[in-house]
Amino acid sequence: MARHDNLSRIDLIRLLGEAEAALESSDGDATQHLLHDLQLHRIELEIQNRDLRQAQADLEESHHRYAELYDFAPVGYLTLDPNGIIRSLNLTAAKLLGRERAGLVDRPLSGFLVNGNSLRLFAHLRAVFAAAHETSITTEIQLRSTAARPLRDLRFDSRAHQGSDGDFCCLTTLTDITEMRRAEHERDEVRRRLDLAIEGGDIGTYRASLPAGRVHGDARFYDMLGYRPGDLQLDWPGWLAMMHPDDRKRVETRLRPVLAAELDRFESEYRVRHRVGHWVWVLDRARVFARDQVLGDLELAGTHFEVTRRREAELKLAHLADHDELTGLLNRRGVWRAIERIRSQAIRSSTRYCLAILDLDHFKLINDAYGHAAGDEVLRVVARRLHKGLRQADWIGRWGGEEMIALIQNTTVAQAVQSIERMREAVSAVPIATESGEIQITLSAGLACSRAASDDPSEMIARADAALYRAKDAGRNRVVFDGNEAGQRAISIAEQLQEALRHTAVRPAFQPIVALSDQHLVGEEALARIVDPVHGNLAADAFLGIAQQLGLMHKIDAMLLHSVIERLRTSQTVIDPALLSFVHLSGDLLLHPEEIDRLAEALSSLSVSLGRAPPVVLTIAEEQVATSTAQVNKALAPLLDVGCQLALGRCGGEAGGFRFLSTLPITFVELDGGLVRQARESMRARTLLLSLRRAAQDLGLITLVKRIEYAATCEQLLELGVDWGQGHLFGRPSEPVTP
Ligand code: GH3
Ligand code: MG
Ligand code: MG
Repeated sequence: MARHDNLSRIDLIRLLGEAEAALESSDGDATQHLLHDLQLHRIELEIQNRDLRQAQADLEESHHRYAELYDFAPVGYLTLDPNGIIRSLNLTAAKLLGRERAGLVDRPLSGFLVNGNSLRLFAHLRAVFAAAHETSITTEIQLRSTAARPLRDLRFDSRAHQGSDGDFCCLTTLTDITEMRRAEHERDEVRRRLDLAIEGGDIGTYRASLPAGRVHGDARFYDMLGYRPGDLQLDWPGWLAMMHPDDRKRVETRLRPVLAAELDRFESEYRVRHRVGHWVWVLDRARVFARDQVLGDLELAGTHFEVTRRREAELKLAHLADHDELTGLLNRRGVWRAIERIRSQAIRSSTRYCLAILDLDHFKLINDAYGHAAGDEVLRVVARRLHKGLRQADWIGRWGGEEMIALIQNTTVAQAVQSIERMREAVSAVPIATESGEIQITLSAGLACSRAASDDPSEMIARADAALYRAKDAGRNRVVFDGNEAGQRAISIAEQLQEALRHTAVRPAFQPIVALSDQHLVGEEALARIVDPVHGNLAADAFLGIAQQLGLMHKIDAMLLHSVIERLRTSQTVIDPALLSFVHLSGDLLLHPEEIDRLAEALSSLSVSLGRAPPVVLTIAEEQVATSTAQVNKALAPLLDVGCQLALGRCGGEAGGFRFLSTLPITFVELDGGLVRQARESMRARTLLLSLRRAAQDLGLITLVKRIEYAATCEQLLELGVDWGQGHLFGRPSEPVTP
């Protein structure tokens, strides 16, 4: 265009020159000719002008297009001067910088960068201007976050450019690589974890043929379980056998659809026994990769991921959720859960359960005197002592600050009282050693028992709380039962009984036994009494039931028999050597061979000092003995060996007694009192009584009836041929004999 323009102008100058010359020479033709040429040139120039305008319009449009392309390009364009001042930028770049374009021009770019990235920018610029012509330099720089957009990672691709004014600038393409970097980071993280898992050896792999073929694992598979690859020849059944029995069923259930060709994948977490004996949790994920359609055999390929630590952490979390951190006992939540369990168990089995609230006495004083840390230590020790005193089925929790709650399952009131009493004693028996010195502590407890299995626990807690209040009120360091007077009386009897056993205050009273024919004395029966000068003596009827519930009968039997032995030894000369001492034995004693051995020893030394078998008859009633006759024989053997005789208690009563009659070396038969009373009115009872007496006679046994009060009864028994009797008619029990 410029050339065209220049040429036309030269042509025009030339033509004008020629026209001037033609006018000076007044040559008409030449003038005509020139005018014609000028005309032509004018037309030509007009055409050229139009082209020029068109070209200009085209140029403008393309400029506009380029500006749009520039502004809205998917990358940012940025021109920086060597000092990092923004000279120009497209809209994309402005958007990346999070500002209006107008507010960015002539501002230093470093102001928009994350701290520390300005240095990167200047290093970038230095590199750009130092680089060879047209060489592009790339740097990643982080943009600060703004209210409009979060922190971004940008890539700067820059090269130096020399403007028409001769100044250098830096032309930069900005690319937002934030998402790319994030994705890369995530990928690297996953890869790192995977690498760690594989390198760290947490994943073992295996192949197995099911249902009965071999299992081949890699080194890690065996290592996880403490074996080396050659150590263990495994098949699938062997593998199942290594699993924890509680998990095996679950695994087999999961495998069933796989074996049945309904599923091709298997996943389960289970425990496998480590070579050393502990359990290792594995996450087993496997896939079927071959299947015999006919036989149904299949090949499984799987991985084992050891998850013991996670499982243990989960267990620990579960434990923490239910347990108190300071004492390790159940926390309130744990207690409620235990109550729910106990309650539904009680409902299922129609049994009762008890609940006691135990509160430390004057605990505030301990905090005040020794400090809170010592108080905490006391709480920890108390918790340990309480926990030690539990039976397996019982629970203890921390109900509040220094209040514990004890739950006792399947129990009677007396047993529960005894348990809580034991706890109370265990806590106060020995002072607690803390850094601040020895601290003596006691506790008070309120006890409530379910009246029906479905009792509302909240209501029981309220009752226990009320009882606790009464225990505090009555002077602390005691257990109070919430309930009727009988319950409260049972508690005081249980206390009295235990006290008596501690101080050998269970003593025998003696009641005569006579021959019915002439009422001459043949022996005496030792009856248990509690001797208590403060609260008054107690007869057997008052405490035997409780002793039975508390499992203390063997102690009472032993104490009584030892007293009898002692009396026989010390009063040899006074007592008629022909008289027999009858002592009742409970089924409970038979369960305590150590007690029996001690008794046998004492009896044997008695027989040495008497120079004959001890005149002792042991009465045993079938209804009280739950064990087999073989066991009874075995348990009694030491006593029979030293020459004691046996009497069968309550023969013809509810338990009959015939099992013992045929299997034990019985010498005396005590006929059941109930049967005797019935015999007064009932022909059948009389016939039965008569048959029993005859059978005894045929076996050479002596028959005996107890608790005879009236002469008429005596007459009747004589008619029936009963040999001996005992009862008020012949003599009341003596005062308890004290040593
Ligand atoms: P009482 O014989 O009537 O029960 O007297 P008490 O001082 O024990 O009174 P109470 O049971 O009302 O007070 C309980 C005190 O136990 C209050 C608090 O200072 C203390 N306590 C509660 N929780 C904690 C604990 O976690 N650590 C310690 N060190 N003290 C506690
Ligand atoms: Mg309290
Ligand atoms: Mg208290």
